[in-house]
Amino acid sequence: MRYVLIGGSAAAVSAVEAIRSVDKLSPIDLFSDEKTPLFSRVLLPYYVAEELSKPLLNFRSADFFEENKVTAHIGVRVREIDPQSKTAAADDGNTYAYDKLLLATGGNAIIPKIPGVDKEGISPLKTMQDAENIYNFKGDRAVVIGAGSIGVESCISLMRRGVRVTLLEQLGHVLPTVFDDEAAGIIRNLIEQMGIEVITGERAIEFTGNGRVQSVVTSTGEIECDNVILSVGVRPAVELAEKAGIEIGMMGGITTDGGMMTSCQDIYAAGDVCETFDIARNQIFINAIWPMAVEQGRIAGSNMAGQDKQYGGSVRMNSIGNFIGIPAMSMGVTRTDECSYADEECHFQEIKKRTQNTYKKIILKNGCIVGAIFIGVGQTQRSGIISILLRRQIDVSDYIQALMSNNLNFMDILPLLRRYGDKFTEPEYKELMDTGL
Ligand SMILES: Cc1cc2nc3c(=O)[nH]c(=O)nc-3n(C[C@H](O)[C@H](O)[C@H](O)COP(=O)(O)OP(=O)(O)OC[C@H]3O[C@@H](n4cnc5c(N)ncnc54)[C@H](O)[C@@H]3O)c2cc1C
Repeated sequence: MRYVLIGGSAAAVSAVEAIRSVDKLSPIDLFSDEKTPLFSRVLLPYYVAEELSKPLLNFRSADFFEENKVTAHIGVRVREIDPQSKTAAADDGNTYAYDKLLLATGGNAIIPKIPGVDKEGISPLKTMQDAENIYNFKGDRAVVIGAGSIGVESCISLMRRGVRVTLLEQLGHVLPTVFDDEAAGIIRNLIEQMGIEVITGERAIEFTGNGRVQSVVTSTGEIECDNVILSVGVRPAVELAEKAGIEIGMMGGITTDGGMMTSCQDIYAAGDVCETFDIARNQIFINAIWPMAVEQGRIAGSNMAGQDKQYGGSVRMNSIGNFIGIPAMSMGVTRTDECSYADEECHFQEIKKRTQNTYKKIILKNGCIVGAIFIGVGQTQRSGIISILLRRQIDVSDYIQALMSNNLNFMDILPLLRRYGDKFTEPEYKELMDTGL
């Protein structure tokens, strides 16, 4: 058996571990076109903030590839795969044969087509090279365009380095895909209290400057700046798959089946590049977050090595607490209007609890949790329980009071685990139920 893995990040690394848990010896060739191996993308904002040095960004030890008998082609791009001859052609001039291949190519930062976007001092934050560019930015005024998670993290990182930052978002509130209006309002206040200027409902229409960016022209004004971070989203890196005739889905990612195989026999996909079944939305979606890439890589790797594992589906989860200073996280859908699949049979409920400094919301569809928001001290600790109930789509109608309580405890939901025993077959749950606690 010969394995070729394209991508060297969350999904590919967890696929390596899954393959090696079954197949100790077969050759694995892994390709990553980024020059720095094994860094965690999630930690790049901390690097930009000068809070973590480069070695501290690693999520596996430097000898990971050697220990796992992986031939790592770092800084080498795969330019084509040929499913007929089962080969991958790389930029090093060589062609590599495979029996099983994994596409874990992640996503590319979207560069909006705004006049002047190619000026010096403008960068997305996606790759290690981007992080280094931003780290080396000169000047003391920056604009961050796009107030998604990465945009908000980027502006706080720059602010922590003493840069004066404006956050510009064309939609009505910050973190529009991650929190509802109420939660976004709390977070916006916190960001503004840090000294960051937040402008919503306004879009960038031009970058001015002679070679280097000098200002961002918006629909109603102009913001002078030395640098710009573009944070308007990520698009699945499907070029290799498209060229090879592999099916691309409605969301623009690679289509996968329940075992993470693509439309092409022996070619698998995992991570930000692929579409999976979203449990909360009850539809195919791309949940481009690290833990989902790890899970999908694990399933793909196991199946590439001959096992028969099924992926249970993905759920979006985002936490911004480390940046804004108070715990803040959300999962699944945050507003019922995101549930485009809703039909007449669906009954939605939004249960909210708000105090001056905290906010908690749970969204139910036909009694099952499809989304939740937790903001404030003491709110997020029990989010793990909510996440378990969401992922297994358990009817929690009789447990709403317990779920909204700050003292929610695993024991509170033990009767539910017993009632839905067929959905909790793992040893840890069995043990809990058997002990009768
Ligand atoms: C700044 C930032 C902060 C983030 N913060 C969080 C967070 O707090 N929590 C969270 O859950 N997620 C976060 N994410 C998202 C998370 O990093 C991604 O979901 C995760 O990295 C996806 O892993 P992946 O393996 O699918 O792809 P990627 O990490 O995108 O890696 C794909 C790799 O494949 C390489 N590649 C692509 N094409 C080729 C080719 N043809 N040949 C060779 N190599 C190729 C790419 O260059 C890249 O190195 C963040 C992302 C960014 C950018």
